[in-house]
Amino acid sequence: MSELLFMKPFCREVIWGGTALHEKYGYETQGDHTGEAWVVSDRPEGQSVVTRGKYAGKTLKDLMKEHKELFGDIDGEEFPLLIKLIDAHDHLSVQVHPDDEYARVHENDRGKTECWYIVDCAENADIVIGHKAQTKEELTAMIREERWDDLINVMPIHKGDFFFIPSGTVHAVRRGTLILEVQQNCNLTYRLYDYGRLQDGKPRELHIDKSIDVIPCPQVYHGTEEEPVKGEGFTRQILVSCPLFEVEKWEISSETEVKVPKNNSFLAVNVLEGKGMINGEPVEEGEHFIAPADITELTVKGNIMFITSHI
Ligand code: ZN
Repeated sequence: MSELLFMKPFCREVIWGGTALHEKYGYETQGDHTGEAWVVSDRPEGQSVVTRGKYAGKTLKDLMKEHKELFGDIDGEEFPLLIKLIDAHDHLSVQVHPDDEYARVHENDRGKTECWYIVDCAENADIVIGHKAQTKEELTAMIREERWDDLINVMPIHKGDFFFIPSGTVHAVRRGTLILEVQQNCNLTYRLYDYGRLQDGKPRELHIDKSIDVIPCPQVYHGTEEEPVKGEGFTRQILVSCPLFEVEKWEISSETEVKVPKNNSFLAVNVLEGKGMINGEPVEEGEHFIAPADITELTVKGNIMFITSHI
């Protein structure tokens, strides 16, 4: 049976980033504005690198080329998911992603559906999800007239909340929020509104027409979380199960082994709190691994919370 593939995060400095990724998880960061840790990434801009075992030093791209069987049945040459931790010390731009069909026709790329698990947040923190326009005409007018407060839907958030953000959903992470983001492996983003900010003296590029194209009206919200299921020493909850990915939360508190089942695809695991043993390996918060396809289950003990995802 294969080993777990532990991954080293790729950290990125950005204007809106903070210090939580270094302080909470001890990641090697380059400065005081670390916005993102790409914790499972097969992107040319920042690859995950295996840290232990016989594949130590290999990138996720290397393994996709040389040992694709590790990941089960995957169409194409790219690992299908991109998983990030995001520390928003300031607001991120309000944005939207196209769906696969629009992206294929207009960008020769794939679209992006994503979801957020709120790892931690400040008191009174909020996010932008969805909009309040009833029709495309109203949407267009609100955007052209820059009536952002009328348009965007701002929601309060709390630690442990979960949000599903299908392609076409207007969204923004806002200040004081640490999230785990599971998404399609794509970086195609249409920026709608950037709070009038300047970067190097200039506003960042906006993509108004394409945004209007891809935002459905009126907004439909998708609640996806199922009721948590409790068992001997664990609680398990499906956060979202959609055609693109399935994401679950596991909370384990047990001195005896708990079995976490998996299918014959890969399983990406993001440990967010606590520590324990998983398949005989010591694992603690801030660590991320992929369980290869031929592993049929994880055996876990300890006090540990993690998010799993697969296609
Ligand atoms: Zn996004």
